[in-house]
Formats: sequence, C-alpha cells, structure tokens
Amino acid sequence: MKNTPIARIALDVPLPGLFDYLAPGITAADIGCRVVVPFGRRTLAGVLVELASTSEHDLAALKQLSAVLPDMPALPPDILALCRFCARYYQHPLGPSIFTGLPVLLRRVSEFVEARPAGWQLTEAGREALPFQVSRRAKVQMALLALLQTQQCVAESELATLGTAARKALLGWAQQQWVERRLLDVAAPVLCESVKPALNAQQQAALTAIVGQLQGFNVWLLHGITGSGKTEVYLQSIAAALQQGRQVLVLVPEINLTPQLIQRFRQRFPGLPIVSLHSGLNDTERATHWLASQRGDVSIVLGTRLAVFTPMPRLGLIVVDEEHDGSFKQQDGLRYSARDVAIYRARQQQIPIILGSATPSLETYHHATSSRYRLLKLDQRANDAALPQVRCIDTRRAALVDGLAPQLLSALEQRLQRGEQSLVFINRRGYAPVLFCGDCGWAAACQRCSARMVVHLRERRLRCHHCGADEAIPIACPDCGNLDIKPLGQGTQRLETALAERFPDARILRIDRDSTRRKDAWDEIYRKVHNGEADILVGTQMLAKGHDFPDLSLVCVLNADSGLYSSDYRASERLFSMLVQVAGRAGRGQLAGEVLIQTQFPEHPLYQSVMRHDFDGYAQALLQERRDAGFPPFIYQALLRAEAPMLAQAEQFLRRAAQLAFDLAAPVSIFDPVAASLQRLAGKERAQLLVQHHHRGVLQAFLGHWLDALRALNERNVRWSLDVDPTEV
Ligand code: ADP
Ligand code: ZN
Ligand code: ZN
Repeated sequence: MKNTPIARIALDVPLPGLFDYLAPGITAADIGCRVVVPFGRRTLAGVLVELASTSEHDLAALKQLSAVLPDMPALPPDILALCRFCARYYQHPLGPSIFTGLPVLLRRVSEFVEARPAGWQLTEAGREALPFQVSRRAKVQMALLALLQTQQCVAESELATLGTAARKALLGWAQQQWVERRLLDVAAPVLCESVKPALNAQQQAALTAIVGQLQGFNVWLLHGITGSGKTEVYLQSIAAALQQGRQVLVLVPEINLTPQLIQRFRQRFPGLPIVSLHSGLNDTERATHWLASQRGDVSIVLGTRLAVFTPMPRLGLIVVDEEHDGSFKQQDGLRYSARDVAIYRARQQQIPIILGSATPSLETYHHATSSRYRLLKLDQRANDAALPQVRCIDTRRAALVDGLAPQLLSALEQRLQRGEQSLVFINRRGYAPVLFCGDCGWAAACQRCSARMVVHLRERRLRCHHCGADEAIPIACPDCGNLDIKPLGQGTQRLETALAERFPDARILRIDRDSTRRKDAWDEIYRKVHNGEADILVGTQMLAKGHDFPDLSLVCVLNADSGLYSSDYRASERLFSMLVQVAGRAGRGQLAGEVLIQTQFPEHPLYQSVMRHDFDGYAQALLQERRDAGFPPFIYQALLRAEAPMLAQAEQFLRRAAQLAFDLAAPVSIFDPVAASLQRLAGKERAQLLVQHHHRGVLQAFLGHWLDALRALNERNVRWSLDVDPTEV
C-alpha cells in the first residue's frame, strides 16, 4: 500500500470536509472526475478533488475507490475553485456545494449515457463484402447500402426515416462488423448576426464602453429604464465576445427565460449553438446541455441561477439580466446569490460582467454610484415611446365596486372601446385570501403554517400557498355552524370574475401560477396577447417582468399598499421595483401608456417617486435611510435559522448559539433570537438569530469558527442552517 495515492473525494453528504480513499492507478489527470466510492454500507458518487500521498487517517482503515466514471470530463480547476469559494463564503460543506452545480444525472452512481448525435459508416470489410451479401430484391437493404456508399457517415436521424426494417438490417451488419457507429462531429459554429437595429446614442455609448474593455475584469451596471434597449446592448456586446471566439453566459430570472427570449437570441445568431439551462428542461436535456457547454461546443448558455456553475472553457463575458431579481438567490441548501457568484466568477476569469436592470438592487446601485462598478445609463426608450403617465387613485375617497374604483373602470372601458389591451395587476392568486365567518370571527387557517388558507373558488378548494395544503371548502363554519361564510378580499380569480361581469364582451385572460402550470401555457398566452385575442389581462407578479406587449396601453395596480409598511426592511425596495416593472409594460409600442395605482396612501414618497419615474431619487433616499439605520449594504449580515417541532426548542438552540458566539469573543453584533415572520411552516416552528458586522472579512472569519462550534453541539431536535447575505429576514 506504500506509495498508493490517496484520493480526497467530495461527497454529497451533510458533513464538512473531503473523504480519503486509496486510489491505486489514479493520477492528477483524474482530478475533477466523477468517481464511485463505498461509504458505510452504501455506494456513493463523488468528485475527486485532490490527490495526496498521506492521510490523517490510518491507511489500513481506508477503503478503496471503486471506479472513475467516464461520463463527465474532469471538472476544470476554475469550477472547483468557484465551488471552494462558495463553500467558504456561504459556510456550506464543500461536497454538497460541488454537487449543487452538477446536473441531477451527473450526481448519481449510475453512468450517464449521453445521446450524442451519432452516425454509421461502412467498415473496410463491409465495403467489400456487403455488395455481394445484399439481395437485389431486398429494397430496404439496398437503399440502406446505397446511402452508406454515397455518404461518409449517415446520421442516425436520417437512418430513422428508413424505418425499423433498415434498423434491424443495420444492427445485423454491425454484428458482422460491416458497419460501425461513431459520434458525429460538431458543426463548427458560424458567427453571423442577423439584421440588428442601429443603436441610439446612449446604447452606442454603453456598447463602446463595454467592448472597449472585453479584456479584463469589470462590473458594468447597465441601468436602463424599461424598454430602453438593454437587451439590444447585451446582444451586441455578446457578438463582440463571440467574435473573439469566446463563450458567453447569460443569467436571467426563471420567469423571464421564455421561449421568446431564447428565440430572440437564436434569431440574432442563427449559426451558433445556443443552449438553455433552467427548471423547465428534463434531466437528460439538462445534462446534455451542461456537458456540451463543458466541452466548449456551445457558444451561449442562457440560464437561470444554477447555470452560474456551468463549466465553460472559453468564457469571455457574463450578462445578468434583471440583476435585482430575488430569484437569483437560492433559499435552501447552498444559499448562494447567483449574481454575486457570477461577479466572483468574472473576477476569477478576468472578464467583464454586465448587470442589467431598470431598478437595480440597492447594493448594486450603491457600488455603481461609489465607483466600484461602472455605471452605464439608458434613460430613453429605444423606440422613442414615451414613459407611461402614472397616477394614484385614492381609495379612501372612491366608491369601490368589487374593489375597483370608478376611474379605473372607466379607463378600462375606454381601452375596450379603442381596441387596446389593459393589464390589471394584483399580487395574489386564487379567489380570495381569506374565508371568513361574520358571526364568530373564524377564518380558515392552515393547520401546518401560521397562515390563512386561500380560497380557490373555481376548484372549490382551500389552499395554503406556503406548504401546499389543500382541502375542500367547508359548507358551514366549523366553529359555530354558520352557513353564511364568505371569501374576503381579492385574488386574481375573483378579479377575473368581477371584470367579466362588468365587461361581458371583453376577452379576459388570467395569468398566474395556476393558469400557467402547463408546459406550453406561456406560448399560448403570448400568441393570444400578440394576436390581439385578449382585451384585459389579469395577472400576478409574473406579468411584471420582461414581457413586451405592444398593444398594452393601460396598467392598473391593486392592493400594493402592504409593501409600504412591512416588517421586512426590503419590502419597499421590492415594491418600488415591482411597480416600475409593471408600469414598464404600458405603452411600449406606438400607444401612449397610462398606469393607475389604487392606494390609501397616494402621498407616500414611494408612490410619488414612481409617478415621477425617479428611481435615482428614491434609491438615494432609501440608501440614506439604510446608512443611518445600519442596514445592508452598509453592513454585512448572516442569519442563523432554526426549526423544530416546538418554538421553545428552536429558541433555546439559538440562545445557546448566541452564547457560543459570545464565548468566541467575536466582535460582531449578535441580536436576540426571534420567531420568523412566518413562524410556523409545514408543521415546523421557526426562529432566527441575526449577526452582523460592517467588515465582510470580520464576519466571515467569525462565521467559520462559530459554525465549527455549532456543529460540535450535535443538536438533534433542531434543524438549523446559516444564511449569509440573507435576502429574506
Ligand atoms: P429592455 O431590455 O431595456 O427592456 P429591449 O432591448 O427589449 O429593452 O428593447 C425594447 C424594444 O425596443 C424591443 O422591441 C427592441 O427590439 C427595440 N429596440 C431596442 N433598441 C433599438 C434601437 N436602437 N432602435 C430601434 N428599436 C430598438
Ligand atoms: Zn363562525
Ligand atoms: Zn400551510
């Protein structure tokens, strides 16, 4: 056993560190490869991360690595380094951090067999023998032979058109070694751009700045109002990077990665292999796309947050569209921010990264205005469309009908008469958020969460939007027997019903998570909206983002006020950006847009800023508030979350954790444990403990020690996790 190398393996188990195995015959070339190892009584897949000549463990006790799997080329050193950074920064074990980035089919013990395009060709023996073997009457076989004789290599896709008889013959010939199968060469990418618009002066200035510095690390904030042509700037910057033979990674929020966006990229670069990586793909597609990127066979990867870990050997530019979007932060396991990891990756590769948004996050905006990032502004709409006029309707002074003010109804009426589209936006799906008994005050609550059940009238169900609990709507109040229990408040379904009664001739299209569950639902919505087959769209947040509906001239916003006075200090930032985004849907084409916001607080500075389209003013005011109050981005935070069957258990654990932090004599501020804002979720009580410091490095150093101490507690009744840079507190 002397001189046998020791392989240090990352495993997808919730334990820190790597695991040592004897690895005879393994060399440095195998680092980054997928391997199979025995682990306890199980067999696990792992990734070989290091080779060593010694181990801390007794060599005699080490087990031997079982196999190296051939299905994945070794993860390159930059990806391993990126995973190490994430593990360290987000205080997550290295093994699970590496596994987070792998497609599901490459996390398993079984080998992934990739269906790469393949073809068949005649062997030397076949070329001589077959003409004498095939009878002239065997039509299919003759056709097959002719094809093989005239082409170097016949693609399987082409052979498939000959039917099963041909396939049978082919397999028979293969047994005789008259034909052989081989992988087809990947077509060399051809960079040709289809027609593109001439940029306006601001777009041109942004493009010139970016492509002038394609060599070297730079974070660009492309701050452009909705419809200002940011995507166009991305596309032309991407073209410049592709021109240099580089690959490009484009990250977008889940909801924005529509077939339309992919289409727009494919149309612009028709000769280039472009793949997407998102949750709508099946496991095989994901693994295939991922491997193709890793081999360098694709030019552009368009993906959601997980795509940030895709190996790309010639990566030359990263784009993060809608960088402020909350979906870039993963809320379980490795709680990373894909935007931040992307910035780290750009620095690591010494390449530029473009963060684009109409409403940048405050931390990005802060960096851009304090010259850590470079700011590029687009403050005109690309096609000269004007920004919509935004007005508030004071609901304290309006006689609402079904929650709708008369001004709003007449604005809708007007659009219907003119044949224009309207969007009515309400951030709650379902029929009504509460089922209520007027006699005794009972309200339907989820048994497992501290939340109300939402009424879904069409399906006659009550549903919990937090844990998914689902039950029939009761006929009577379970507390007092009252038969007259009523849905209270408004959701998309109720709004749809109310509008249908009010405007019986209007074609109403509801767009929320319930109506878009089917795979091709979005395609249909797009078709209807673009073909003018819908007059009024009723939708949730989903509709706020990135979509381009040229005939939409009116946007109405209901029930936005809850974001004004929330306990989460980020709620107003989110509300502001959401309002700007929905407002941005109006008047993108030739039509002038109008936005109506129903509110009880029309004088609130947030609404005032939205009306003036004044992102800068509002962002600066919010940043000043954050600076004064000592909130991020002026301080760095980590949140220790705990959940247990009883709140007391979770809180007790957090008090011990706080004590451990004091014992470490940490210079960080340690808050008192508090119940989470949604205290009960899916039957678990949840509490949290906040720690913070104004130096990232100090907080980081503390977290490492603290985590070691917490793990040593070996707590069994409480599930806990650490969230670095939490976005939901
Ligand atoms: P954003 O990403 O900022 O919302 P887009 O890039 O989608 O904006 O552009 C909005 C619309 O304006 C699109 O229909 C796009 O094709 C068009 N557009 C963008 N740039 C130009 C330009 N320079 N000239 C004409 N039309 C443009
Ligand atoms: Zn009752
Ligand atoms: Zn629930």
